[in-house]
Amino acid sequence: MENKAKEQFMRMAIALSEDNVKNNLGGPFGAVIVKNGVVIAGSANKVMKDNDPTAHAEVAAIRLACKELGTYNLSGCEIYTSCEPCPMCLGAIYWAHIDKIYYANTKVDAANIGFDDFLIYDELGCEMEKRKIPFVQLLPKEAINAFKLWEGSKLKVIGY
Ligand SMILES: [Zn+2]
Repeated sequence: MENKAKEQFMRMAIALSEDNVKNNLGGPFGAVIVKNGVVIAGSANKVMKDNDPTAHAEVAAIRLACKELGTYNLSGCEIYTSCEPCPMCLGAIYWAHIDKIYYANTKVDAANIGFDDFLIYDELGCEMEKRKIPFVQLLPKEAINAFKLWEGSKLKVIGY
């Protein structure tokens, strides 16, 4: 894809981020998902609008793109996000099997305006016992049964 087209997609993501603030809808983030040079979905951050802490622009765009394409696998798609994805969105992008990430602002830029991901990155690198949110294991012997059922399920997809 030409650089000009890529910049055009990023400008759409940036416009979503700006409009979100100008219209008092939420944080300054936007994301657009593209497949074969065609925009499949785009969204701004909808955390405040939807009272949904997971409704970051990238996650919201992934949800829309999956709905649009009727799949949970966005292989062949690229995401243009106005800011480097946070750990949650990065995880969602991997789970969605998106091929490539284009970003504009960095996580340092985001931290500078109060959207600080570094705590989560630190927590991920921390041993479970040292994390700020306590982890307590309960009933693993009962829970493992669902995993055993999955082994024999016709829904099981190799490599997923
Ligand atoms: Zn995020």
